[in-house]
Amino acid sequence: MAVIKVKRPKLSFGEKIYFGALIKGFLLTMKHAVDSMRGKSRGAKELASSGLGVTMQYPEQKWDEHLPEHYRGAPALVTDEQGRERCVSCQLCEFICPPKAIKITPSEIPADDQWAKVEKRPLEFDIDMIRCIYCGMCEEVCPEQAIFLRKDYAITGLSRKDMVHTKKKLYEIGGVRVGLVNKWNELK
Ligand code: SF4
Ligand code: SF4
Repeated sequence: MAVIKVKRPKLSFGEKIYFGALIKGFLLTMKHAVDSMRGKSRGAKELASSGLGVTMQYPEQKWDEHLPEHYRGAPALVTDEQGRERCVSCQLCEFICPPKAIKITPSEIPADDQWAKVEKRPLEFDIDMIRCIYCGMCEEVCPEQAIFLRKDYAITGLSRKDMVHTKKKLYEIGGVRVGLVNKWNELK
């Protein structure tokens, strides 16, 4: 086996005692400290901070206006513009979800219902937000554009139960999504 000799860089005396690097680091820290006290921190304006550094004063100040367009927040269910459930309870999202955060109990739509052709809808639809990693796989896999990651990021609760978003809560967060819904298409 060939032996590779690594040639180490030759350090000057100053580099060997790290003194120069220490001073440099110290001066940089002091510069940021002084800028911060003067309310001139870089990025302070964009983050709407108090001016004392770039740290946002959460929760008085929030990220909401600074989130990128495609920010992935909490997943939620959406209805169509007529208030109908888009979800057909196919359970693809439940299957694909990496941390198994989704739990769906499907139910049948009665034969005499106006929308009986769709056959299924979710009786229960829970997402455990302690498990959810905001990956967006559920949104990717959904054939009916029924589940979307919204911009909500402040998901809190006092118990594990509070952190499970039920179907009701998921529709509250999700709201309405306008656009094609395959299941209502008479030709399908
Ligand atoms: S965002 Fe990812 S982890 Fe969260 S429910 Fe959807 S698939 Fe599961
Ligand atoms: S949200 Fe979409 S993928 Fe999940 S069960 Fe409903 S239709 Fe299927």
